Amino acid sequence: MKIRTILVLLFIIVICYLFFQYQTYSNRPMPTELHPIVEEKKEELVRKTDEIGISIIITDSFRSATEQNAIYQQGRETEGTIVTYAKGGESYHNYGLAIDFALQTSENNIIWDLEYDGNQNGESDWMEVVKIAKDLGFSWGGDFTRFKDYPHLQMDFGLSIRELKWGKRPEDVVD
Ligand SMILES: [Zn+2]
Repeated sequence: MKIRTILVLLFIIVICYLFFQYQTYSNRPMPTELHPIVEEKKEELVRKTDEIGISIIITDSFRSATEQNAIYQQGRETEGTIVTYAKGGESYHNYGLAIDFALQTSENNIIWDLEYDGNQNGESDWMEVVKIAKDLGFSWGGDFTRFKDYPHLQMDFGLSIRELKWGKRPEDVVD
């Protein structure tokens, strides 16, 4: 075979592959709730932290792209301080893969205090929660380099926002 024939064949294969990918992933509907695995791990996190005397509340979980756009406006088009750098479709919350937590004190106050030691074991409750979350497979927003998001926990299943936007879902990478 001539090199040109091979190149043409290769080109056709690549086009077919891309078309197949497009068929598989495009027009995938956006998720409308927390991913079942994330939901399960969220409940486990609440249970496990409770076992060591830390009460947490989940302040945010699934967020639609519309809701995301609304909070993106905050501090930009609308009043308030900037709370997110992600527009609709650019946050793991929009794919049901992230949760935000806060601590609940014995007086039922919701706090975002990274130093608070309510169970009085000499360790910050916040960091104890983070440790348990990481053991459950979450990655923590406090480790982000660009924008520290301390209440934020996510499970990306190795998927980038770009892949999620394209239509790839955790089901495509885990079985
Ligand atoms: Zn978050």
